[in-house]
Amino acid sequence: MKRIPEPFRIKMVEPIRVTTEEDRRKALVEAGYNPFLLRSEDVYIDLLTDSGTGAMSDRQWAGLMMGDESYAGSRNFFNVESRVKEMFGYEHTIPTHQGRGAEQVLFPCLINKAKSDNPVFISNYHFDTTAAHVELNGARAINTLTPEALDTTSYYDWKGNFNLEELEQTITRHGADNVAGVIITVTCNSSGGQPISMANIKAASEIARKNNIPVVIDSARFCENAWFIKRREQGYENKSIKEIIFEMYSHGDMLTMSAKKDPMVNIGGLLCIRDDKELFQACQTRCVPMEGFVTYGGLAGRDMEALAIGLEEGTDEEFLSYRIGQVEYLGERLREGGVPIQYPTGGHAVFVDAKLMLPHIPGHQFPAHTLANELYLESGVRGVEIGSLLLGRDPATGEQKPSSLELLRLTIPRRVYTNDHMDYIADSLIAVYNRRDEIKGLEFEYEPPVLRHFTARLKPVA
Ligand SMILES: *Cc1c(COP(=O)(O)O)cnc(C)c1O
Repeated sequence: MKRIPEPFRIKMVEPIRVTTEEDRRKALVEAGYNPFLLRSEDVYIDLLTDSGTGAMSDRQWAGLMMGDESYAGSRNFFNVESRVKEMFGYEHTIPTHQGRGAEQVLFPCLINKAKSDNPVFISNYHFDTTAAHVELNGARAINTLTPEALDTTSYYDWKGNFNLEELEQTITRHGADNVAGVIITVTCNSSGGQPISMANIKAASEIARKNNIPVVIDSARFCENAWFIKRREQGYENKSIKEIIFEMYSHGDMLTMSAKKDPMVNIGGLLCIRDDKELFQACQTRCVPMEGFVTYGGLAGRDMEALAIGLEEGTDEEFLSYRIGQVEYLGERLREGGVPIQYPTGGHAVFVDAKLMLPHIPGHQFPAHTLANELYLESGVRGVEIGSLLLGRDPATGEQKPSSLELLRLTIPRRVYTNDHMDYIADSLIAVYNRRDEIKGLEFEYEPPVLRHFTARLKPVA
């Protein structure tokens, strides 16, 4: 496959350390076989996340110098607010420290608004912190993802789509009054950074609106999703990325955003509301004690300026073609080497199907987490599990929830690693694949009660 060269040149470099296998084995034992607990200095190529790990541009760094650090009414806030109006058409903006900041402000307000004793949220797929904030506030998070997403081996353009029939049935089953929101996640992180089509966004939104349910767009990767629509959906090939984004958001009532993804800032988030003034005021009231005053929401003025610039830079089509092309190149190299991946590759990451690669390791021994450990030992590359360990236990029964997918996510930070790094990653994982039959699973040494994947300690099964 043809590689697209980097559409930038390098002005500053950060050395990274190559370690020996002995160094890595020692570091992993100290980290309780949990790559989250490694020191980043012991990692050569860090594919844990694309969140806050991107390289800011010279323009963004210059923007930092333009920070207005006034407690209230900073000019940088107004720069963000006007960019939001222009790009999404939403009137009201609240900055937050990151995506989950927007979630912790918005969800209780939506639950209040629904006035239900059994509130639920329905999504194509709730991101992990999104589900956590839904559940922490006494609501239930229900996913109605298209079934094609679960078959990693067969090509489908829109593995981030809603199963629309199931969405309607779920609303009927719970009663529309009990649905506090329909959350459209673009792209769908949990199914592999997979896009949702404009047609599906529109249809899901129509179903919600006909039932008077607010539509929230979970917006971490809105630019990547728009790029896929342009490439794959009929009628969009001649539209600009910005036009596609505007149309996507015409189908929503509000957005939460982790700006640490597509807008390429190291910290920042947004909560924006189209026109529901009452909801906006409720969110502002909650923002003050949770995040900070309503014109900074946990961010410095300089961070808001970098965010205003990043919102714009993220929409650059040439950049997006290179970016998504780099991820696809890694995916194709792995496929050629026999490694099973979620196919086609998504926007921000390659998801390796550990259930297929390590069929001898059962879910409760965490095959994808095991694979993350093996890749680190082999190469110093750090990936992350999206599977049973992340999913956790059913709060009602205490049983491990069965995970339909066991994925190792290799998340590519934006503008950080070169195409040569992709070759190193592919060669290393193919080497692990070639000794897959010898790999053994893991069990808990310490299991935290919530979001356990972050701090769990494990050990190899006896
Ligand atoms: C990252 C992410 C979030 C949470 O954002 P943070 O900035 O990490 O708090 C929410 N939803 C999706 C889809 C994400 O990818």
